[in-house]
Amino acid sequence: MPDIATPRVEIIGVTDFQKPAGVPWDQGDAVGGAAAAEFAGRACYQSWNKPNPATATVDGYIRHILEVGHLSVLEHGTATLYLTGVSRSFTHEGIRHRHLSPSQLSQRYVPEREAAVVVPDVIADDPELADIFDDAAQYALDAYNTLLDRLTTKYGTNSTAAKKLARQAARAVLPNAVETRIVLTGNYRAWRHFINLRATPSADREIREVAVAVLRALQACPGSAPVFADYELVTYHDHPDAPVTTIAVSDLADGDTDR
Ligand SMILES: Cc1cc2nc3c(=O)[nH]c(=O)nc-3n(C[C@H](O)[C@H](O)[C@H](O)COP(=O)(O)OP(=O)(O)OC[C@H]3O[C@@H](n4cnc5c(N)ncnc54)[C@H](O)[C@@H]3O)c2cc1C
Repeated sequence: MPDIATPRVEIIGVTDFQKPAGVPWDQGDAVGGAAAAEFAGRACYQSWNKPNPATATVDGYIRHILEVGHLSVLEHGTATLYLTGVSRSFTHEGIRHRHLSPSQLSQRYVPEREAAVVVPDVIADDPELADIFDDAAQYALDAYNTLLDRLTTKYGTNSTAAKKLARQAARAVLPNAVETRIVLTGNYRAWRHFINLRATPSADREIREVAVAVLRALQACPGSAPVFADYELVTYHDHPDAPVTTIAVSDLADGDTDR
């Protein structure tokens, strides 16, 4: 039975904002990419004073940005996340988001002899279905190892090219469930779009779980939190008999326009 992988989402980099000298703006609590976004918005109108209490804090200012749809200023904040314990199904969907820059584990370079698998929760939840899944995943991994052995015998291991020749062919039998690892970098506007589309009822349950984990991470990071503060996490039932999941809702999630 292959090892079971579970998703893990970690922020490994965020925008480091530095206020330029000579600008009469009280930065207050604003840091990182959220500060960059507020600074960029204020720079448009050179509005460094804060006469309106509703927009005097970074939280209030960013909420106003979201309300009026001036979303391009959110592009000045960027977060890089490292996702592990996710499936190839997930990454196939995730990399469709063209403003997220991916760097993904290479199956041509890294042998998958002992690959772990990500089990869909509705299968893991049912012992009979879980057994069917385990058997199929093990069968696929065994076939991979047999093919890799024979291809390695045929082409040798004297060069990286020869090893890739074997691995890139053998991987054809690996299932969608195989664990992969990926670094994704995106600006805050792109991450909001990802969350709007993927932390929702219509999305696949795994990508939904990852999108919610991404949102939690961004909400916990001071440099991004104000940009994601409008989302609320709520429990969702796809079906009365299925395990519950979490989705993200926001009254500002549809303001995906720019000017
Ligand atoms: C529930 C669900 C089901 C799906 N089912 C399928 C499916 O069956 N088959 C399938 O192929 N895909 C499917 N997708 C993927 C979907 O079609 C998109 O490819 C994916 O969600 C990326 O989002 P996006 O198109 O908004 O673009 P992103 O790449 O996230 O870009 C964000 C925004 O930038 C703009 N943009 C980006 N690139 C361009 C461009 N070249 N030209 C103009 N504007 C651009 C658009 O406004 C876009 O909305 C599904 C997605 C979801 C959420």
